[in-house]
Amino acid sequence: MRLDDQRESSNIENRRGEGGIGFGGAGQGAGGMGGGGGLGSLIGLLLPLIGSKFGIVGIIVAMGALFLFNNMGSMTSAPPAQVSAPAPGAPAAQGQLSATDSFVAKVLASTEDTWGKIFAASGQKYPAPTLVLFEGSVRSACGGASSASGPFYCPGDRKVYLDTSFFDQLARQFGAPGDFAAAYVIAHEVGHHVQTVTGTSQQVTKLQSRAGKTESNALSVRLELQADCYAGVWAANNRTLLDEGDFAEGVRAAQSIGDDTLQRQMQGRVVPDSFTHGSADQRIRWLKKGFESGDPNACDTFSIPASQL
Ligand SMILES: [Zn+2]
Repeated sequence: MRLDDQRESSNIENRRGEGGIGFGGAGQGAGGMGGGGGLGSLIGLLLPLIGSKFGIVGIIVAMGALFLFNNMGSMTSAPPAQVSAPAPGAPAAQGQLSATDSFVAKVLASTEDTWGKIFAASGQKYPAPTLVLFEGSVRSACGGASSASGPFYCPGDRKVYLDTSFFDQLARQFGAPGDFAAAYVIAHEVGHHVQTVTGTSQQVTKLQSRAGKTESNALSVRLELQADCYAGVWAANNRTLLDEGDFAEGVRAAQSIGDDTLQRQMQGRVVPDSFTHGSADQRIRWLKKGFESGDPNACDTFSIPASQL
């Protein structure tokens, strides 16, 4: 990626070295990336489910009314905003940032510019999220979480939580190296923030509280694929920051953290009903859909049949 001229976001909160305390209700309602070492714990984090009287079709019909971007202006292939270099001496969040933190702050800034523009096109203001850097474990409004669960977004405090060691894990364990692969992770979590701002996440949580396990997982997949699509929308609006081959890195990352890929690696077999993030093919498809359209309206993962996801 070409981020030299990109500004650094000041919405970074460095909580490294603080140490997370307690794991009560860990990650409830949190939108993770998938692909964290703790896949089992991610599945375990799903909301407690009561009753399953709602068939998936009923849920999908209900979800059709949820898609909240239909009155938003299309941003198809719009040129990315020109971002000026940071003013000399402009304060970063916690003084001089390391190369990795600077990268994170620049990617976050590009998501702010992109979503700010998209929201503005429909007369709305984009409330930018805070990104918390942590190591080991962290406490959030969604409970405590460990790095093993991977990066996540907590709707309760509207913050993205990231242990940047996940980038190494992505490169080594999941075979998806590269700066764009890392940026895709951030853009995906920011996608969950957008879903929270628009109310989609809350609607899904509500439906999940009345759904059985399988339906609840299916809803989670739709939410995650939409976050992938939003990451693609971000990338489409930042084409000038991309080098040749960058997008392919993102596709490789989406492939490597697909539920089927992970299950095959970790348990040697694939159980589609237990998917919470989508298969590798689905994740790639929705990332591409966002990238090719540049338009959040193309990311309606809720009003189509599961077979077309
Ligand atoms: Zn996610």
